[in-house]
Amino acid sequence: MAQLAKNAVLEGYKDIKMKLGIDPKKDVERVTVVREAVGNQIRIRADVNQGWGTVQLAREMLKQLEPYHLVWVEQPIAQSDRSMFCQLQNGSSIPLMADESFVTIQDLRTFGEQQSIDYLNIKLMKCGGIYPSYQFANQAALFGIQCQIGSMVESNIASAAGFHVALASENVVSTEISGPTKFSVDVGNLTYNLPFVHLEDKPGLGIDIDETVLMDISEKVEEIFEGN
Ligand SMILES: [Mg+2]
Repeated sequence: MAQLAKNAVLEGYKDIKMKLGIDPKKDVERVTVVREAVGNQIRIRADVNQGWGTVQLAREMLKQLEPYHLVWVEQPIAQSDRSMFCQLQNGSSIPLMADESFVTIQDLRTFGEQQSIDYLNIKLMKCGGIYPSYQFANQAALFGIQCQIGSMVESNIASAAGFHVALASENVVSTEISGPTKFSVDVGNLTYNLPFVHLEDKPGLGIDIDETVLMDISEKVEEIFEGN
């Protein structure tokens, strides 16, 4: 992780996202070596993906991670434990982000009323597409919650839509829309020049679709289904 983080910084990244929570015993060590590798000028965020399980463990972990200046810790505890974010926030100075615990407007209302989180991770594929995601970003602002547009590792089309939502709302302070960088072939021409993405001012989502690629993909999908 430290080596990967160092490489990313050499490529020009200013923000590093770490995944934690698989083996909590090693998480503090992981953050320590990554912080040492990238120095203090790089922002580090951590996503626990519900991995710390109990409030007690999460509290302990947050306390131990305080010296490392994390921008935020994402989804430290189980998805269903929305009210437990309150208990965590009281005991820690590290900002908290909800991801798996946030899907609907009711979730946003709960977090807003409890004042229990600092950030929301909005994903178009999780939250119902462009319109609800845009609404959530603006409604979150009323509660003083800032937003990130994340992704479920989508290809060009949904990724372009995500960037449009992100840039349309002043309350979106971060994006994690990296899906297309993981595809060997993609249907559109959204251009990443890492660590940046180049967005067009063309109509619609601002991308062109290559229909031959689309046909190839649907043929391959058909073959896979026939094979099974
Ligand atoms: Mg997440």
